Amino acid sequence: MLGEFNLIETYFSNQQANRDDVVLAQGDDCALVSPPSGCHIAISTDTLVCGTHFLASASPEDIAHKALASNLSDLAAMGATPAWVSMGISMPEVNEPWLASFCQAFFELANQHNIQLIGGDTTKGPLTITLTVQGFVPVGQALTRGQAQEGDGIYVTGTLGDAKAGLDVILKTRLSTQHDINQILEKRHYRSTPQVLAGTQLRGLASAAIDISDGLIADLRHILSRSQRGAIIDTEQLPISNELLCFTGSDMLARQYALTSGEEYQLCFTVPQHDEPKLDQQLAGIPYSRIGQITNSGRIVLHEQGCEVDWELTGYDHFKDH
Ligand code: ADP
Ligand code: MG
Repeated sequence: MLGEFNLIETYFSNQQANRDDVVLAQGDDCALVSPPSGCHIAISTDTLVCGTHFLASASPEDIAHKALASNLSDLAAMGATPAWVSMGISMPEVNEPWLASFCQAFFELANQHNIQLIGGDTTKGPLTITLTVQGFVPVGQALTRGQAQEGDGIYVTGTLGDAKAGLDVILKTRLSTQHDINQILEKRHYRSTPQVLAGTQLRGLASAAIDISDGLIADLRHILSRSQRGAIIDTEQLPISNELLCFTGSDMLARQYALTSGEEYQLCFTVPQHDEPKLDQQLAGIPYSRIGQITNSGRIVLHEQGCEVDWELTGYDHFKDH
């Protein structure tokens, strides 16, 4: 079995090209980096715990992807360009095939976003992965949660609801009779695509933004409370995949999934009316939908065909309470 030093050397060091702004990566007491002038550094940390955020049966590739994707999603929601990541990993044992698969998926996603692993810590313990990501955002252009105004359009990227359906499949709380639909949704649960490009394209355009990690309603509430506003959501405008429609068998249930599905890692953002016409050009090639409007009411109202609906929506739960 490899010792700790060799383990780090073999799996976590020298797996990526050096970014120009990384002066010193793994191997010393600290990493040294050169931040660009004129930018803030956006920093975020997310932890994934076995049994809470993924099941012990999850593949190492899926775990690695989910860990990095959830962190990249926070940078995206701030409009930041990814730069550096540190990893705290605790593992019950050294399982080299597991580590090799984990690192392969981790570095594949990291390289796609030009984010470099610059350091971390490796310990023995229950399987837990904590990543701290850092990115750049030009001074004054970060997408915060607090500036949504009455009349702003409310938008989301991609489709919503698949991650919750995927969780149903993983926990077997609901299954489609079609095996291939179950497989696609389970994959979408673990392999979401962080909306980094959308985030940077929304700089200077979105009045507020957040990534959907707890469910659209729960996350939109964060924007509304920070901005001291309310919202009308047109439930018919919620973007829903054909697979989710097939899985739920009803428009209403699919929409309820879209409103409460967590760990989607899509962006929810608001845009002032006069800037809405610019979105098509700014987000060219990125799927997005207008789902409602900011109000002054202080609450979220759900509309279907212009009428208010009163759906009992439960929040998002992880695999178990924590
Ligand atoms: P220290 O005793 O100074 O904390 P460590 O022995 O924990 O150093 O780590 C040695 C080097 O390897 C450090 O530069 C650290 O950043 C890096 N490192 C340790 N674990 C990881 C990891 N999981 N991913 C990336 N780098 C790591
Ligand atoms: Mg250490």
